[in-house]
Amino acid sequence: MSDFRKKLIAGNWKMNVLPSQAEHLVNEILNGASNADCDILFIPPYTHLHSLRSLIQNQGSVFIGAQNCHQENSGAFTGEISPEMLKDLNVDFVVLGHSERRQYFGENDKLINQKIKSALAQNLKVIYCCGESESEREAGKHKDLIEMQIAAAFSGISEKELSQIVIAYEPVWAIGTGKTASPEQAEDMHNFIRVLLSNMYSETAGNKLRILYGGSVKGSNASDLLSRPGIDGALVGGASLKADEFCKIINAAK
Ligand code: PEP
Repeated sequence: MSDFRKKLIAGNWKMNVLPSQAEHLVNEILNGASNADCDILFIPPYTHLHSLRSLIQNQGSVFIGAQNCHQENSGAFTGEISPEMLKDLNVDFVVLGHSERRQYFGENDKLINQKIKSALAQNLKVIYCCGESESEREAGKHKDLIEMQIAAAFSGISEKELSQIVIAYEPVWAIGTGKTASPEQAEDMHNFIRVLLSNMYSETAGNKLRILYGGSVKGSNASDLLSRPGIDGALVGGASLKADEFCKIINAAK
């Protein structure tokens, strides 16, 4: 029997929403999701973390995350933010390995592995993103690719540390494109990832692991995806910027 995994709905705002608009958006979402039966995670730009942390203080199932961090805790790295800084702000999660970081900032799994270790050392929880490109899927290489990404990113990560990691399966061809993986495609990949991690660690660890789906999730497709037992939540980009859409997704997660 699989262990209970509470669903997690995470909104990655990317480089959107002004600091002066952030509290309003969060309040609108929390008002529209007052009967939520899942964990909710807001992932705004760094500049909003402090004010949003204060806003959602002491709300049991609502969390704050950052979109990235550096692998070092301090030093001459102009423009970077360290895991220690995020921890000092009481940030709960950090997203690592997002496809936009890989594509536009040249991040690879070796670097992401270093970042994961540094984040975990600060007791931050990690959302690790992986996913194949359209050409990799068309060539039937999507499972090989995910296996390679995960083996590299999780190298040297213990089973105890794994319990602080959430995986987001995000096919690159579905991010911001309006194309969504079908519930069957998503479930197939989630099952594959769970078996992979069960083999790398243990069946118990695999059963406890939360695996989110990301890629053009919106109000109209959320229930189909989230009703699948292997899909433990969603990492949402575009639709997390619209309170009514994001609330529909939250309310579909039971
Ligand atoms: C994302 O950025 O992780 C994402 C899934 O974006 P979107 O929902 O816009 O496809």
